[in-house]
Amino acid sequence: MARTKFVAGNWKMNTTRSAAVDLAKGVAAAAPSGVQVGIAPPFVYLDAVGQAIAGSNILLGAQDVYFEKPGAFTGEVAVEQLIDVGVKFVLTGHSERRHVIGEASDLISKKAHAVYTAGLILIHCVGEKLEERDANKTFDVVKLQLDELMPGVITDASRLVIAYEPVWAIGTGRTATDDQAQEVHAFIRKQLGERWSTAFASQVRIQYGGSMKPDNAKGLMSKPDVDGGLIGGAALKAESFLGICNAAR
Ligand code: PEP
Repeated sequence: MARTKFVAGNWKMNTTRSAAVDLAKGVAAAAPSGVQVGIAPPFVYLDAVGQAIAGSNILLGAQDVYFEKPGAFTGEVAVEQLIDVGVKFVLTGHSERRHVIGEASDLISKKAHAVYTAGLILIHCVGEKLEERDANKTFDVVKLQLDELMPGVITDASRLVIAYEPVWAIGTGRTATDDQAQEVHAFIRKQLGERWSTAFASQVRIQYGGSMKPDNAKGLMSKPDVDGGLIGGAALKAESFLGICNAAR
């Protein structure tokens, strides 16, 4: 069965309440059919954005989560609380959380499994830094980041999404070429096949992320293993985000 392309916007620590609601409404008003579209606003605007997109097909997403059940974890947000405000997908392993905030693999792994076992869609981000690419370590790095996911726990391919985001392409305006992206996406799918099964791997969506824009989206997403995009900067304007969603059709 063909994989439905999935384009998700990661708003990071941007927007105000009113800007978030306007952006969400703009996306919901014109999102194309035939593509899964999602938006991940900052935690504080999840509820407002959820209301703004109510009744549309847009999926509400969260940029982070804590793995524990609700309780004494000051400042954290539990998956149950995300579900309570209508969240359908959660990002784990984003490079800003790995390399700026300093999240380690074991924490990322716990978060990923908490998201999946709660019944949500997991978007697990992987990707190499520039020095790792230059040292020919891209595949080794991606392999280790895929090790954060346990095949015994994650059994439904439709709720697992991998986002390949080369760190050197995030927010830099520098995009992987279509062939560079395809090469790593094919590697990821092969790895998933070895860990789960070829049938499972063939159903997992693998998004590309890293300075995807309306003008480069079509080329990237026309590659056989590129099943959508995780979009940062270009997701902050309805026009550019919708341009990418339309390119995914
Ligand atoms: C991201 O941070 O997930 C991302 C892809 O950012 P940008 O599109 O701005 O490179």
